[in-house]
Amino acid sequence: MKDFALKNVQLRGHEGLVVLKIEDGKVGEIQSNFAVADNEMDCEGKLLIPGYVESHIHLDKACILDRCTIKAGTLEEAVSEVSSAKIEFTEDDVYERGSRVIEKAIKNGTQVMRTFVEIDPRAGMRSFEAIKRLKKDYAFALDLQICAFAQEGLTQEMETYEFLEKALQDGADWVGGCPYKDENPEKHMDLIFDLGEKYKVPVDFHLDFDLDSEDSSIPYLCKQTLKRKYKGKVSIGHVTKLAAMDEKAFVKMAKKLAEAKIALTVLPATDLFLNGRASDKLIPRGVTNANKLGDHGVLTSLSSNNVLNPFTPYGDADLCRMANLYANVIQLSKREHMEDVFDMITKNAASILNVPYEIKEGSPATFILIDSEKKEDAIREVAAPLKGWKNGVLTFENPRARIYRS
Ligand SMILES: [Zn+2]
Repeated sequence: MKDFALKNVQLRGHEGLVVLKIEDGKVGEIQSNFAVADNEMDCEGKLLIPGYVESHIHLDKACILDRCTIKAGTLEEAVSEVSSAKIEFTEDDVYERGSRVIEKAIKNGTQVMRTFVEIDPRAGMRSFEAIKRLKKDYAFALDLQICAFAQEGLTQEMETYEFLEKALQDGADWVGGCPYKDENPEKHMDLIFDLGEKYKVPVDFHLDFDLDSEDSSIPYLCKQTLKRKYKGKVSIGHVTKLAAMDEKAFVKMAKKLAEAKIALTVLPATDLFLNGRASDKLIPRGVTNANKLGDHGVLTSLSSNNVLNPFTPYGDADLCRMANLYANVIQLSKREHMEDVFDMITKNAASILNVPYEIKEGSPATFILIDSEKKEDAIREVAAPLKGWKNGVLTFENPRARIYRS
């Protein structure tokens, strides 16, 4: 592997621009920008960061719009359309669609990703097998974590429990459930925790996905998290009920989540598409304010969730674009809020997935260069990722668009 250096680099925690030496795939000396190195590349004062982190995506059911019909645009319809479609999923088919999304994600600067994979009597182990192959084949550019996931309930279909167990014996990194699709949400959570404890993996729940401020699953989840000593090992996605709560109820829930160290991932594209279908005007946004949760000590991230399926018939696996969408919907304007949003697709998400997130001497030369000088501007302007490296090897490049004056 050829050693090289990056000069004129904007790096978090360093005053002014720096030169970064890359030796044997690792970060070598970080010096002031006056240093001269061999084989230099000019980074023109742009930000070098350890890649975006996609903390919640479903590769197995991506890119299936041609197999589904969207009429109502509701959560119920999305679950049932995908339920029928996945009977026909083959391993190669899941692999091909998943690879399409992963390649977009790589080009958009993502270097760590957690994917959910539905494992139940309809999908069998086929999707899981495909995702395992994707994890291996794309390891040159991206680290993939796999969450074995019960989308369609558990207590009414205990076969799924056995499938999940099989996946956990075969390398799944997380186990996840969806209490709102179960006849017995609390028992559902218990069963997922049981699996988590048995296989010593963290757990995730798709939770509270509607705009009714009542009947939240948060209190029960927090109770179980504390009882089972699972602090810092539970994440939840959506939780749009929080967007429907008044200030007092919101703060109460935020404090509970912070106490149990439960991390929350907001999924703006899906939340916006599926929620509020009962309104014919002034449609509610239904996106939880992750910045406000952060103010109460809750660890939060943002993620894509779905790409081109009945849950989200859009998508390009571009986390910076997703963060911009979120900031716009939540009506943010201040610099510090933009910086918090940037953290939600970078260091906060890395913390949820329990992966290191820093560029320092001795750390792997795994990072991306983005076309921005400040975190704040990256979110406001959807800064393009220009190049990325993993262990010192270039993994993608997006040349800048050029204007030719006549
Ligand atoms: Zn999801």
